[in-house]
Amino acid sequence: MRRIAVFYTGGTLGMRASPNGLVPALEGIAERVARLAPPHVECAFEAFSPLIDSAAATPANWERIACRLAALRDEFDGFVVLHGTDTLAWTASALAFLLPGFGKPIVLTGAQKPFSIVGSDAPDNVADALAAACFMHLTEVTVAFGRRLWRACRVRKHESIALDAFATPGLAPLAEFEPEVLWHAALWRVDTVPFSLRPFNPNLRVAMVMMSPGATVACLAEMVERSKLDGLVLLSYGSGNTPDDPRLLAALARAIERGTVVVNVSQVWNGSVDMNAYATGSALAAIGV
Ligand code: ASP
Repeated sequence: MRRIAVFYTGGTLGMRASPNGLVPALEGIAERVARLAPPHVECAFEAFSPLIDSAAATPANWERIACRLAALRDEFDGFVVLHGTDTLAWTASALAFLLPGFGKPIVLTGAQKPFSIVGSDAPDNVADALAAACFMHLTEVTVAFGRRLWRACRVRKHESIALDAFATPGLAPLAEFEPEVLWHAALWRVDTVPFSLRPFNPNLRVAMVMMSPGATVACLAEMVERSKLDGLVLLSYGSGNTPDDPRLLAALARAIERGTVVVNVSQVWNGSVDMNAYATGSALAAIGV
């Protein structure tokens, strides 16, 4: 018998209709999940309160889930987190970084259509997540969605309506559930560190800004001057370039001097950042981005 803890945080998977659109709901979800468990699995179900639309999730939500997983780590063989799809990729990635060496499967999933709707993807997604959570060798955080299993810290939502909503750019799925079940175990990460819950301050002021031609450049310079950020993730162009705007560069340089950590991430899905490829990128490297 394997024991799986299921945390329900909200999201479309369990939502019901309201006059203003879908809202999170609790009714019937524990029973529906229990019916999907494989025969040798005992599920313990825990609903977070309040249930949320994941569009409202904050780093405090990530911390709360991570603490709950850490607290129950010794009591269960695997964990499933039911989550809204809008920010599922952020939570999944945060958990992967907050729980190094966890040593047991943590599988996130959600749905594009509520359980209660005919043709919902919730039953397949939950069944796949429960199956993956039974695999004791799957010791990394993953996302089961669209009949595939994805690495948590690489996953992105790339479809707002279609059921195969997630993918990991540049990385193949870790398992496939159709047309036949294939566990690509050779791709799975092996834990090399002892477990710890990484200390994390959800109140740090970290912002992410996507570079775009036009007013963004001046707005970003202003924001960096005024907001006193702890961290800034800059979604740059191509291999790590931004406009060589003197005001932006000066604002970033001053922020870095004050202690803001500025990280350059490309807005492009594949490839990587090389700040020395172009003069515009090397200007960022020179000021400490
Ligand atoms: N807005 C919903 C949420 O993220 C969307 C979903 O779950 O698919 O909670």
